[in-house]
Amino acid sequence: MYSRTQNENGTYNSRCLDCFMTIASCVETEKELDAREARHMCPEKALAQLLALDRAAAQHAAHN
Ligand SMILES: [Zn+2]
Repeated sequence: MYSRTQNENGTYNSRCLDCFMTIASCVETEKELDAREARHMCPEKALAQLLALDRAAAQHAAHN
């Protein structure tokens, strides 16, 4: 989930909607935007994943 905006000079910015981090600014092509977005390691998503794992582990422990 990324929010893309275009600057007056035609370059692009992209912001992650999960962590609100600007991951690209003044990028000239949409292809470069794709690359930047693909490379973004979202801390929010990593955290959500970690919490999900924690929950799964807790549930597993409760069953035993
Ligand atoms: Zn993010």
